[in-house]
Amino acid sequence: MDRILLVTGGSRGIGAATCRLAAAEGYHVAVNYVSDATAAETLVAECRAKGVRAEAFKADMGEEEDIRRLFAEIDDRLGRLTHFVNNAGITGQVSRLDAASSETIRACIDVNVTGAIFAAQEAVRRLSPKHGGRGGSIVNVSSAASLLGGPNEYVWYAASKGAIDALTIGLSKELAGENIRVNAVQPGLIETDIHARSSNAPERLARLTPLIPMGRTGSAEEVARTILFLLSDAASYVTGAFVRVTGGR
Ligand code: NAP
Repeated sequence: MDRILLVTGGSRGIGAATCRLAAAEGYHVAVNYVSDATAAETLVAECRAKGVRAEAFKADMGEEEDIRRLFAEIDDRLGRLTHFVNNAGITGQVSRLDAASSETIRACIDVNVTGAIFAAQEAVRRLSPKHGGRGGSIVNVSSAASLLGGPNEYVWYAASKGAIDALTIGLSKELAGENIRVNAVQPGLIETDIHARSSNAPERLARLTPLIPMGRTGSAEEVARTILFLLSDAASYVTGAFVRVTGGR
């Protein structure tokens, strides 16, 4: 049976590592991106080289219309979705809350919360037997920040990931009787471009590494391996679970 996976924000970082591993395991892959078409197309070529079908889909996860269109295009170009990684996320410029702009806060909530909820809704409409689907698996990408709170850096981002945790709990219970599992990963400090591109604190990783019990940052692939486990039948009795991928932080 074909496994068809969408990874939002799948073209770089944790999302890209997830697409790579998924393709190696035989999933057909929909790679969503918003601006960097070259990164998305390069990754698609890499996935296809592993013998699976892969397509890039441009859609802004902060825009409802884009999200609805993204899922419809996947129906047409790849077929009915069976697996979904709700990964796209931004932080905005690092600051205390009292110094953050309304644009920064709104953009973060639009992508990380509203967009993630609309995307989960569209995924359920493909996976659920109530809509003609045959079940499947959803992994939400939360953050260690949902419990740490992100003080002095991005309290609004931590709050957005708290919403993802609640989404995971509620949806896992709502769908447990429909052969759909919903879990989340909570990554800690992971080496991706998010620190340099989405924030004004590129030295964050180096500054915070001493706080990590394992004494090092994590790789995108280390998070992706956990996501692949939760997606897979190896996790057949796991739902509503949170896996921290934080080196002990
Ligand atoms: P990243 O390296 O910055 O990659 C971001 C990816 O998301 C890119 O593929 C980017 O596409 C896409 N993207 C950004 N905004 C988008 C939008 N509005 N619509 C659609 N796609 C969008 O990020 P990352 O570090 O891998 O983070 C992935 C997830 O992990 C996020 O939810 C983040 O909050 C979470 N996380 C990361 C860390 C960490 O330390 N890295 C820790 C905890 C949680 P383009 O290339 O087209 O811009």
